[in-house]
Amino acid sequence: MPMLGGIPGHPKSKVLLTGGTGFIASHILDHLLKCGFDVVVTARSQAKGERILASIANAPNVINSIGCKVTYAVVDNIAQPGAFDEAITTNLPLDYCIHTASPYQLSFSDPLNDCLLPAVNGTISLLSSLHQHASPFLSRVVFTSSSAAILNPPHHRDVYDESSWPDDEVLNWDMAKDPASAPGDATYRASKKFAEQAAWKFMEEHRPSWDLATINNTYTFGPLPRSLEVVRGGTGGEDVQVKVNTSNERIVDCLTGKWAEEIPPTAPVFTFVDVRDVAVAHVRAMTRPEAGGKRFYVVGGYFSNARIAGIVHGLLDKKGEKEEEKDLAEMLCGDCLMYNDFPDNHWSFDNTRSKEVLGLEYRELSQSVVDTVRSLRAMGIGKGVVQIGRHWYRGPESDEGSLPN
Ligand code: NDP
Repeated sequence: MPMLGGIPGHPKSKVLLTGGTGFIASHILDHLLKCGFDVVVTARSQAKGERILASIANAPNVINSIGCKVTYAVVDNIAQPGAFDEAITTNLPLDYCIHTASPYQLSFSDPLNDCLLPAVNGTISLLSSLHQHASPFLSRVVFTSSSAAILNPPHHRDVYDESSWPDDEVLNWDMAKDPASAPGDATYRASKKFAEQAAWKFMEEHRPSWDLATINNTYTFGPLPRSLEVVRGGTGGEDVQVKVNTSNERIVDCLTGKWAEEIPPTAPVFTFVDVRDVAVAHVRAMTRPEAGGKRFYVVGGYFSNARIAGIVHGLLDKKGEKEEEKDLAEMLCGDCLMYNDFPDNHWSFDNTRSKEVLGLEYRELSQSVVDTVRSLRAMGIGKGVVQIGRHWYRGPESDEGSLPN
């Protein structure tokens, strides 16, 4: 067993973190550095790798006094056979691997090549390369799966936990390849189900010297990655374009006027988790011996779009607008053609394993949304005036809190 990172006087452990530009990977990287690990991130181009390194150099607070090393390796398409070979062989010895890279969008023009094959073949190709080149130093791989590999809509259980998988009748390869025959995000959900199943099958068939744990996090909110690409346009530099990750998009919509007439329905998922808790989950699943061989259903609580709107409303400056002091519930449910869409008979979740084995203490929805809003506003998104329903609010002049650097 290699030494854990961050133990003074001992060599640091090295982690291969795939998908380094991603929302979740960015927070995992921060947490790995805080815990004292050296990290090799994969990025799809040299420019993206350099952007990650620059974002860390600009944020010395994320690197502890032990002085961790971060490097990158270019892996432009994980679907290619042997995609990870060079990243692995040039960075040996590796002690751990965290695999987050996977396409996450809600629709794909070419579902097979843009989503299913990168997710499934990318996972197998990573595990094969690690098996071939990184054993015997490697001790564990943590795979970022999803609650999509647990939930079984529309035939929901009363309570979900790690024992659940989506049935083949409701989520199979054929419908994933042809989303016209399946509800909305079936391609993405199937990519997570089949990638995780492929990973466990690989472990069973090849019995490598290292083990596997999966993080099955639900819909994830939280501050944007530090290494986000920002494009400023307009004569005053006021127009900002940033690629915000899929799961934060609804908070962007709320802040930028897309909920002005009506709050859209929340469905299909009403559970959330904060990205910083997801990051802690990955690092603890990597280092805690008892986490090996287990799935972890990582869920912080419930949310709905109306609840998000309520939190955003609470953040905004309502000075001088007495009318807005009226009861929030009335505002959300009546005056603005909005409704509290949280279903009465919603299924529940059991996150006991994540608390007992990983010691997770989950952040509340309000903290997650507030910190996400601050991070978005720091990027220039939703600054100034915000409309929710028929009401307009002027945002605070400045926001303080855990902003990305
Ligand atoms: P992001 O879109 O922010 O990150 C995805 C990462 O994967 C990016 O680094 C992206 O690179 C990389 N990637 C995608 N396709 C390829 C490919 N073909 N070859 C190489 N790299 C690729 O998403 P998240 O951070 O939100 O998601 C990360 C993981 O977490 C995914 O596996 C997702 O399924 C899972 N997850 C996310 C949840 C959420 O709510 N956010 C919930 C549950 C699970 P690039 O940026 O260059 O395109």
